[in-house]
Amino acid sequence: MSTWFISDLHLAPEETRITAGFLDFMLEPQAGDSLYILGDFFNYWIGDDVKHPYIEQIQQVLKATQARGVTLYFMHGNRDFLIGEDFCKAAGMTLLSDPTVIQLGSEPVVLMHGDSLCTRDDAYMEFRKMARNPQWQKQFLNQPIEDRIAYAQKARSESQSSNSMKDESIMDVTPAEVDIALTKHQSKRMIHGHTHRPNIHQWQQDGESRERIVLGDWYTKGWYLKFDHDQYDLVEFDLPNP
Ligand code: MN
Repeated sequence: MSTWFISDLHLAPEETRITAGFLDFMLEPQAGDSLYILGDFFNYWIGDDVKHPYIEQIQQVLKATQARGVTLYFMHGNRDFLIGEDFCKAAGMTLLSDPTVIQLGSEPVVLMHGDSLCTRDDAYMEFRKMARNPQWQKQFLNQPIEDRIAYAQKARSESQSSNSMKDESIMDVTPAEVDIALTKHQSKRMIHGHTHRPNIHQWQQDGESRERIVLGDWYTKGWYLKFDHDQYDLVEFDLPNP
């Protein structure tokens, strides 16, 4: 039994290579395995009520994977935080809150998307606070679909132009926030995505060894983390050519 982790695929209909890579990847987990999708699975999400053949296709692949015995979990990212119980249910996934602590091997491991750790980005933290408010979400989801699309496009272009001017360090996690989360959950290991800086960080804190595993995005290569026989493997692989 293996446990798989992916994040930051940024799936979208026009991303044919990433989509093909995802379809290939979904053949890897075997019956009895678990797969955790730690956010930014879709490039954006404006409501479970928005129907599209592409979304339908992805949903069916997830459901088929679950039907052959793979347990699927999904955690929101900053782009797809509006994915709701309806889509998760149809896709055969269990929706997790951020953070979630799971037992892996013999130890607790903290799972996060990672955006909540980037506390030096004041503007984003402000947006996050607003957009994760159930009242704001309800209001947003009640708007006509065209208005939601327009809002999402505007938010994305504004985010791209402001991110290109931001200092590198504020786009990464705040190390102290990582320690706070690990101490709070009495864990020595964290797995997250979001920063697009795949790596395994190890350090000492309070006399113990701690580890932070960062998943990679799927922009140019695919990435997954596999836990098996008490071993963590962070793997980069080629996406298929279209
Ligand atoms: Mn993200």
